Order: sequence, then structure tokens, then C-alpha cells
Amino acid sequence: MPRYNLDGQVAIVTGAGRGIGRAIALRLAREGCRVTVADLDGATAAQVAAEVRELGGQALAHQVDVTCKEEVERMVGETCEQLGGLHILVNNAGIGAVAPLLETDEKTWDALMNVNAKSVLLCSQAGARQMIEQGGGGRIINNASGAGKIAPGKGIPLGAYAASKHAVVALTKQMGLELSEHGILVNCVCAGIVDTPMWDLIDRETAARRGVEVGSVKAEAVAGIPVGRIQQPEDVANVVAFLASDDASYMTGQTYNVSGGLLPY
Ligand code: NAD
Repeated sequence: MPRYNLDGQVAIVTGAGRGIGRAIALRLAREGCRVTVADLDGATAAQVAAEVRELGGQALAHQVDVTCKEEVERMVGETCEQLGGLHILVNNAGIGAVAPLLETDEKTWDALMNVNAKSVLLCSQAGARQMIEQGGGGRIINNASGAGKIAPGKGIPLGAYAASKHAVVALTKQMGLELSEHGILVNCVCAGIVDTPMWDLIDRETAARRGVEVGSVKAEAVAGIPVGRIQQPEDVANVVAFLASDDASYMTGQTYNVSGGLLPY
């Protein structure tokens, strides 16, 4: 059942071909949004757009590399042409990489900073320009991570990932201030351990480094979650839907933990 009235609004969700982005796209569609399902993988974007249509919603599948300015501008342009504007941008696309900082090469660093941080700047620039031209404000919601607030820990070497996600939190704070005069509210969510292919990769690669069984790293991490269960993509989508709604109209530049109590601040 829809909780918020987002009828008539148009949303772009990046990295929406699977995992958290898919759940966000489906949730915003249930709330009444027309949705651009944007992903590097055009086939998964098309599948999720078909799922939206099965729900009775309207969706555009769009293949995009969010690190490329021209492609990002095309994504916003096609969304406006085909869905009639842009009101909500969810910067969700991201990648992970397991490597201790002493072993992190420049290629890994650049990939993480480009996909996780630069893309937030590029998509937000293109999205905010459109929202300003339309008038009436808008929402930008960034998907950072608990690793955007704390170091993931000695045993889970995600240092470059953490640096890229700290950048997303900083961009949220400053963008919230700079775009407030246009009525564009910018907020961020920080999730904990979400059951998606990204955490499966972290588990596999960390297990290989430790020489332990696949699945054991994830099980150990989940055992430390105060609410006692792994996070589902829908747990993140719930908060994104709230941040896109009128109920969140007095909030900007903020970062919200959605982590089952894992994150201390
Ligand atoms: P995922 O790997 O399951 O999905 C990520 C999606 O992003 C994929 O569909 C992928 O094709 C897409 N993508 C990757 N690079 C892209 C690019 N250059 N252009 C466009 N699309 C691209 O990951 P997920 O777990 O669903 O994570 C989604 C977001 O949530 C990421 O930003 C991630 O850092 C963040 N996050 C994840 C967790 C977790 O535990 N899984 C926790 C906190 C935050």
C-alpha cells in the first residue's frame, strides 16, 4: 500500500538494475512516481522497468555510466522528454572493492572515487539544473553507507570505499546548503549490511584474504547487528520514500542511518 502521495512526480534512480536501487525504484513507483530505472547494465534496467510496469506504473529503462558527464546529461534529458520532468533524483549507483590501503592501487582508488563520489556530483549537477529550470524545487537523495561515517574496521578492508562514501556525506551537506534557495532538498542515507550482491562480493573477497569459508565473514558481521537480522534493500527504500515525501519537507543537508543500530552516530 502506498504511504506517501508522490503521484505525478518523476524520479531517476541510478544503479536500479538490482539490489537497493531496484527496491527504491519499485517503492517510488508504488508511491505514484514515474521512474527512470538507470543502470550500467541495460538488461537489468529493462527487467526492473518491466517489474514497475507490472505494478501498473510507468518506467523508462536507461543504460548509463554515471561517471560520464555526457551520458548523465542524456539520462536527465531523456527522462524529461519521456516522463515529463524531474522531481526526485536518487544517487544510488556504487561499487565496492576489498583491499587494505597499503595494497590499494590507483586504478581501484580512481574507480571507487569516480563511481561512488564523482557520479553524485555529475548526476546532481544535471538533475539540479533541470529542477531549477522547471521551478518548484525537488529532492536529491544520496545513498552513502555506514562506511561514509566510520572506518569499516581492520578486518574488513574497505578503506578506499570508505573514503568515497565519506565524500558522498560531505557533498550532501554542502549541496543541501547551496541548493536550498531553489527549494531542492538534499539528504543522504547510510545503510549497514544489506543483503545484495555487493555484500556477497565483500564476503567472498574478505573470506579469501582471511582463508576462511565463503559466507562466514557475512555471518560474523550480521551477528553484530543490534536488531538481529541482515538488512533488506526495502529497509533502505522505506527511508528514501520518506525523504522524497512532503513529510520530509523541512530537512536538508542531513545524513540518516538506516542500519539496525549498527552505526553509533
Ligand atoms: P549492487 O552491487 O547490488 O548494485 C549496484 C548497481 O549499480 C548495479 O546494478 C550496477 O550495475 C550499478 N552500477 C555500478 N556502476 C555503475 C555505473 N558506473 N553507472 C551506472 N550504474 C552502475 O549494490 P547495492 O548493495 O545494491 O548498493 C547500492 C548502493 O548502496 C551503493 O552505492 C552501495 O555503496 C550502497 N550501500 C550498500 C550497502 C550494502 O551492504 N550492500 C550498504 C551501504 C551502502
